[in-house]
Amino acid sequence: MNLSSNNIEHLLTTSDPQAVDELFAEACRVRDKVYGRKVFMRGLIEISNHCKNDCLYCGIRRSNLSVKRYRLSKEQILDCCRTGRELGFRTFVLQGGEDAWFTDDIVCDIVRDIKRQFPDCAITLSLGERGYDSFRRLREAGADRYLLRHETADATHYSYLHPADMSFEHRMQCLRDLRSLGFQVGAGFMVGSPGQTLDTLMKDLAFIADFRPEMVGIGPFIPAADTPFENQVAGSVDMTVRLLAIIRLLHPSVLLPATSALGTMHPKGRERAIMAGANVVMPNLSPQDTRALYSIYNNKLATGSEAAESAADIRLRLHAIGMEVPDDRGDHVEMKSYNS
Ligand code: SAH
Repeated sequence: MNLSSNNIEHLLTTSDPQAVDELFAEACRVRDKVYGRKVFMRGLIEISNHCKNDCLYCGIRRSNLSVKRYRLSKEQILDCCRTGRELGFRTFVLQGGEDAWFTDDIVCDIVRDIKRQFPDCAITLSLGERGYDSFRRLREAGADRYLLRHETADATHYSYLHPADMSFEHRMQCLRDLRSLGFQVGAGFMVGSPGQTLDTLMKDLAFIADFRPEMVGIGPFIPAADTPFENQVAGSVDMTVRLLAIIRLLHPSVLLPATSALGTMHPKGRERAIMAGANVVMPNLSPQDTRALYSIYNNKLATGSEAAESAADIRLRLHAIGMEVPDDRGDHVEMKSYNS
């Protein structure tokens, strides 16, 4: 398929349903060639909603005083992993706000204990920006992957979405540091975030084609109550799935989740993403009583097919669209020899 900038812009804006269907079909062919008709499951554990940052879009931003804050203990995190391991998960994603309580010592200790108890499982961290030495220690403790969405590849747009004490340069530096330390790196962005234009999206795609992150997380922006963007309109499901397909074509071996934000916006959001070339789902493995508190956006789904305890149902729904759901770590293909 023609992936010139002109044609990508056409694919993102066309109202010709046949062109869009062909895009999706081609993205699925490319995914199936690299990974087979497989969807990899990851269990998402939201370890803390304390955050020192004040990202304008995010419901758990520091200045949102209406959020009840929590953090999980090591024992709670290990319990989540135990439940997940029994449900067939072989990857645990520890995500949280930037919470200074989770020092390097504490996170390394948790990572080592998870690896000791579940040696066949991969650990993904998603704890925001840290320094090179911190990332190095987490990697040495056994973390395999790190998710840090770049949020937007346009520096001016970045400063529209973030307060002045956060910088585009530092976020990008973190991604380069993670890469150089041997992490499988996840980048990504919200679709339809305030201030986003076709031009900033084209920069996101160029960044992905150039940096080639092992994983790319994209989902629609959804307004969060009590944030500066609470009255903005949400991003579109249609645009998100088109972007998923284009990312698959630009970077065939990418691991591409059908995100919860997509599932929240549309009851068939996950299926639509898979049929556009996605190949990862990340159901929620957090303790039941903290799920509602990790409210990065309104009405975030953590039940039904977004809940890890529904793993059997998730498998059925994926089988129904012709996908297998293997019980393996689901590493990025070019990294297999590296990690085994
Ligand atoms: N503190 C971590 C984890 C952030 S939450 C970090 O900085 O990486 C994970 C992702 O949720 C964010 O990277 C952001 O892209 C997304 N997110 C935050 N608020 C959102 C909103 N209102 N709508 C949709 N996605 C949102």
